[in-house]
Amino acid sequence: MIRSAGLLTRCSARLQTRTCEPSPHSLRNYRVPHISILRCGKARTAAFIVALVLFVPLSTSAQHTSAGSGQAFDGAQAYEYARQFAAIGPRWPTGSGHVKAEEFLRAHLLRAHDQLEEDTFTADTPIGPVPMCNFIVRFPGKKPGAIVLGTHYETNYPLRTINFVGANDGASTTGLLMTIADQLRAEAVRAPGKKLDGYSVWLVFFDGEEAIQQWSRSDSTYGSRHLAAKWGRDGTLNQIKAFLLADMIGDKDLDIQHETHSTAWLVDLVAQAAKKFGYQHYFFQKEMDIEDDHLAFVERGVPSIDIIDLDYGPNNSYHHTAQDTMDKIGAHSLTIDGDVFMETIRLIDQR
Ligand code: ZN
Repeated sequence: MIRSAGLLTRCSARLQTRTCEPSPHSLRNYRVPHISILRCGKARTAAFIVALVLFVPLSTSAQHTSAGSGQAFDGAQAYEYARQFAAIGPRWPTGSGHVKAEEFLRAHLLRAHDQLEEDTFTADTPIGPVPMCNFIVRFPGKKPGAIVLGTHYETNYPLRTINFVGANDGASTTGLLMTIADQLRAEAVRAPGKKLDGYSVWLVFFDGEEAIQQWSRSDSTYGSRHLAAKWGRDGTLNQIKAFLLADMIGDKDLDIQHETHSTAWLVDLVAQAAKKFGYQHYFFQKEMDIEDDHLAFVERGVPSIDIIDLDYGPNNSYHHTAQDTMDKIGAHSLTIDGDVFMETIRLIDQR
């Protein structure tokens, strides 16, 4: 990672307000222990404004088509799934809402005989053993190998004392992946042999991303660490061409950061996909170092990217608060996400 002392000095006030302020309600700190913003300053702002001016005409005239579908991704459907999922309420592990969340995913993902696997395991947590469940849906492709798309679906255990429904943090990306499942299912049904044109696509809905007590590498990302280790042992990881993680990208004010643990060629491919639709101003205007469900895959050598918007509300003030509700989520943001995910799959297939 490249660090510039000058840049960091100029950014430090912003860093403080975004992530480090001591607050009686600073439960948001459970999620991300440290963030580095490496790019800021006047030159970049000027470049950003120029970029906006240049790209607005492209944005309005771009054909918003998803790979192979001939039409825009159905962000309204993704929003509706997210709304239904958030309406379940808090979904923290061991809670009754978590059981309802599992039932909701099972009911949806079993449609049309998708290859659904429930990966149940017991997590060793600061409050003792906690039963957890990852959901995996597989859409077979003609090419050998798989592209994995992931999100987490549960909400924080520490936030069980407030009405935290995680509309953006968990529900929005669950709705996104459910809609991607619908689209892949439709593509597979039309295809000869019912197989996708490129690689297989596996969708993973992770449990236990959030800390149970306080964020650390051992108290977080339980589902992804479990699954990456399991797939490492049984050789499944060798089949994975790329791992794409979606987190907190339902925000109406979409501002997806370049997460610095992510694999460079995948960052480039996602940027290329965004550019196709004129969406590039929503992507990678800032860099951040973020710990998330992709790390267990990064550490095992799987090309991975965390597609995340950790800039949610003024000074990130909606993150991990009761403010994370559906009125902050935009169907248009989910359309952008879906278009870019589907196009990125297509670009990986062509690689
Ligand atoms: Zn969270």
